[in-house]
Amino acid sequence: MSVALKRTFQNELTLNEVVTQYPDIPRLVIIKTDVQRRGIHYTERALSVVDPEIHLVNDPAISELFGSRDGVEKPLPASLLLRDGTSILVSSTPLEENPYLVDLVDGRLALVDNGEFIEHVEFWRKPRFYDLKTSSGVPMRQIFSARPQRLSIVQSSYCHFWTDHKGCRFCDINNNNKKRNEDAKARPRIKPQDISETIREALKEPGRFTGICLTGGSVLAGNGLFDKEVDLYIETLQAIGENFATKKFPSQLISSAFNEKQLKRLYDETGLMSYTSDLEVLNEDKFNWICPGKADNVGYQEWKQRLIRSVDIFGKGHVATGIVGGVELAKPYGFISEDEALRSTLDEAESLAENGVTTIFVVWSPRPGSDFHEQQNASLDYYVRLASGLHQLRVKYGLTVDFDDYRRCGNHPDSDLARLI
Ligand code: SF4
Repeated sequence: MSVALKRTFQNELTLNEVVTQYPDIPRLVIIKTDVQRRGIHYTERALSVVDPEIHLVNDPAISELFGSRDGVEKPLPASLLLRDGTSILVSSTPLEENPYLVDLVDGRLALVDNGEFIEHVEFWRKPRFYDLKTSSGVPMRQIFSARPQRLSIVQSSYCHFWTDHKGCRFCDINNNNKKRNEDAKARPRIKPQDISETIREALKEPGRFTGICLTGGSVLAGNGLFDKEVDLYIETLQAIGENFATKKFPSQLISSAFNEKQLKRLYDETGLMSYTSDLEVLNEDKFNWICPGKADNVGYQEWKQRLIRSVDIFGKGHVATGIVGGVELAKPYGFISEDEALRSTLDEAESLAENGVTTIFVVWSPRPGSDFHEQQNASLDYYVRLASGLHQLRVKYGLTVDFDDYRRCGNHPDSDLARLI
């Protein structure tokens, strides 16, 4: 059987059926979720209006952690924006997998499905600093990448868990890193001064950026586990902080699960405001199977405890864990039924929420460079129920998610709902 047949939509509710079934969830958020689930394909007509002078386009020189869904590096538009400001982070997907089309309708960009107009969309806009260089000659776009309202820096696009072949099975970070151009590999480590200068320039664009995100693969080097990773983040955060008059600035770190001493250093020595460490899947057995490196080095229960302890340092509403929604249904050891997967995931998310840790999810998109490349993500109905369930937990436990909402991040259907309350 060819890959072309791997996705079947039999027995799944359609987009319109799901929109009707969940009147409390905005249609645009459901559309975003389905587009992330199924992916997109740009028609030639749509690509004819891409202007690299105006739009953000993929560039191998820019550090990105993960590859595209079709495994091809092309200068395509970075992602899409809906008319309410909701982002759709999505990559080009093989046509055989039945993605949405991005096409021109009445001269405007639009999502189209089987000939039916769904919604108009826009391409993300390129920020001004992308055309500038630091005083040492480094293109600023190689230091920070931009989303509509967020700046991101990738500390390391290599994850040490893969060195022992124990990376997370849905993740393509190291294969993607290998594939990216020699130019990127040969690039020297980013210097603090280049970081500071880039932030200074980016902030000159009025009203554009609302937050800064730091992330990267896990770094196992150092005297203690993750010590080196912590040192690197502290250096970067201090360089960013030179541009702020206040001690703290809007920021999110997505990193390994650090111990209390490391977390305290991060909080005391930098302007970091929020901490996220991804459990990826909220079930110990599935975690042990899907994230063997995390399981071996830290363990599920200890990862959870580190998150809970970090609430004492960063405060309630400033700590999160990310999960890859749908990966808990991966074959052969995942949950068999979506109902069971949802129940278990939300129960576990509630045990974290009770302790001040909020859970956010990304829609799992099986990528060619990952172990799970031949698998299939969950139904749209499942993702909408997951988004709603995680949002309801935040409401119930009074947890905010400002550092990871539709403006700061834009990659989570559940935190898109935070703007409703
Ligand atoms: S920790 Fe897992 S998900 Fe994160 S970069 Fe490493 S392998 Fe990928």
